[in-house]
Amino acid sequence: MMLASLSVLIVLLFVCGIPLLIGVLVYRDAAARGMEPLLWALVAALVPSFIGLIVYLIVRSNHAAAVCARCGAPVQEGFVCCPSCGAQLQYTCPSCGKPVEDGWRLCAYCGAELPSDRPQAVRSRTGSLKGLWIVLLLIVVMVVFVAAVILLAMVSYVTIGTEVTTQTVAAAYAAA
Ligand SMILES: [Zn+2]
Ligand SMILES: [Zn+2]
Repeated sequence: MMLASLSVLIVLLFVCGIPLLIGVLVYRDAAARGMEPLLWALVAALVPSFIGLIVYLIVRSNHAAAVCARCGAPVQEGFVCCPSCGAQLQYTCPSCGKPVEDGWRLCAYCGAELPSDRPQAVRSRTGSLKGLWIVLLLIVVMVVFVAAVILLAMVSYVTIGTEVTTQTVAAAYAAA
């Protein structure tokens, strides 16, 4: 009985605790990537069987968290300069002012020729918040553990049930 109540407690803890933990982590992660934090936190926490979390992890890979290589401030896709230190994150066309890619010889928007010796963008990417992957790994371990506990409980239940049936049948046979 002790084992049963303990496993119920563990299951309850995971049922309530894991979505909460996922929600908080996803909220912070999404905010750092310029994604909708509340929406993704709710999706990741509430869609069952961790499908929401998995969908988030897939979608977020397209929203890589970037930091300014000079000062480390978080920057987003499409930023032309670091809002914190002013470092140039993306070169802009001298003619039309639109951001241009590093490899371009001509501006794709206005056709102006771009200087070949223009400075490279200082942006750097970071694999921050590895926490989500650790949480996912933890969840897998927990699910396996809970499944093992349930399986064990079922096996012992079935065993007891079989014994009872055998005894009942034996007793009925003896009485007859
Ligand atoms: Zn900066
Ligand atoms: Zn241009």
